[in-house]
Amino acid sequence: MSRRIAVIGGGAAGMMAAIWAADSGGTVTIYEKNDRVGKKILSTGNGRCNFSNENMAPLFFHGSGTALIGKVLSEFGVLQTKAFFSSLGMRMKERSGYLYPASDQASTVLDILRYELARKGVAVHTGEAVRDLSCGKGKEKFLVARQGARESYDAVILSCGGCAAPNTGSDGNGFRLAGQFGHRIITPVPALVALRCKEKFYKQVAGVRCDAGLTLFVAGEPVCEERGELQLTDYGISGIPVFQISRFAARALQERKPVTVRISFLPDFDGAACESFFKARLRQQGEDSMDVFLTGIVNKKISQLLLKLAGIRETEQAKGIPTAAFEKLCRLYSGLETEVVGTNGFDKAQVSAGGVDCREVSDRLMSKRQPGLFFAGEILDIDGLCGGYNLQWAWSSGAVAGKAAVYDSY
Ligand SMILES: Cc1cc2nc3c(=O)[nH]c(=O)nc-3n(C[C@H](O)[C@H](O)[C@H](O)COP(=O)(O)OP(=O)(O)OC[C@H]3O[C@@H](n4cnc5c(N)ncnc54)[C@H](O)[C@@H]3O)c2cc1C
Repeated sequence: MSRRIAVIGGGAAGMMAAIWAADSGGTVTIYEKNDRVGKKILSTGNGRCNFSNENMAPLFFHGSGTALIGKVLSEFGVLQTKAFFSSLGMRMKERSGYLYPASDQASTVLDILRYELARKGVAVHTGEAVRDLSCGKGKEKFLVARQGARESYDAVILSCGGCAAPNTGSDGNGFRLAGQFGHRIITPVPALVALRCKEKFYKQVAGVRCDAGLTLFVAGEPVCEERGELQLTDYGISGIPVFQISRFAARALQERKPVTVRISFLPDFDGAACESFFKARLRQQGEDSMDVFLTGIVNKKISQLLLKLAGIRETEQAKGIPTAAFEKLCRLYSGLETEVVGTNGFDKAQVSAGGVDCREVSDRLMSKRQPGLFFAGEILDIDGLCGGYNLQWAWSSGAVAGKAAVYDSY
């Protein structure tokens, strides 16, 4: 008799797990609390779904499971993901390594998965939130309780997501279900999210987008660096390079450590190169007033802000600026320090960092505390960088957990 598998949560990871469990011969049921499966997929990649990345390695992921990621990706990685979607008829395209459906529509990815669930005979129960999960007696290994109903299963795959974008269904309740089996939950914090900063000057530069280099400091120590298009908002900093460093900032803030970011508006220059650049400019354009002198270096609003912070007036002649003030201005171009006081909330975050401690999960994603209980997707304490890594984790962990739930002994 085939194993009866319940998949709790019909997001990217849950659908993938269900497809592979059914493909492996299991009798599979998905329980999804929304009125449809895969709601979050529709908002990914600005509606285009950046479903993976050609440049894939464990170093693009963080959390308690770095060794686990390598093992799961080696079993089901980008190649297998592309082959899977391609075998189901999805053409795809690549931009600088980022992978998208050729249609540029996230709905394509969701449709492909929905049709495959139907082909594989997976029972999909939408509008059914699982409220309780427990171990039954004898043959009733797991009891899955929804409102007014209780069903028994041989195995359960928990794929309820994390806390990010709760409007799509992932409100952290999966952690409670995992916690019922004694699993340690690493406190989730928002990740791939904008950072809120202390300084008042942000209103002046809100809306500016510019190339920048960022260094994140926690308690004065550099933690990571990123470069890319910085977006300045009226409350702080945003954009992809900020998203990439945000999980470290969020974790440090949760641990009540001081967090700062050094922004270089001239990321091609280090401090010394920046100084020589300005000195050479001074030799050529020293007669100009500062507003003219600074024109063409970076976005005008940025230059106006840095000038103000250096205590220099726009009308002052460049060659007349006292050396100390001029050096301060150079330093601000290559390293404006900003104090991070918070992140945007889970409602604005793309993922949550934290979740079920991966050290309590086997390489096949089975709980070390409860045989037959598996995990897939963001519910685990693994978060990837922006660029298709989080969906790849959903596909990889879903496929591995789905197969293991049918084939492995427990
Ligand atoms: C705006 C946005 C853009 C993004 N863009 C990208 C991108 O381009 N590329 C990328 O790689 N990643 C992207 N991500 C991240 C990526 O979408 C997620 O990491 C991924 O979808 C997580 O999949 P999951 O299946 O683990 O969780 P989810 O997609 O969150 O699915 C969990 C599901 O479980 C259901 N559920 C929860 N509790 C219960 C319960 N008790 N009973 C029944 N059902 C339950 C929820 O309703 C939900 O449908 C983005 C995220 C957001 C918010």
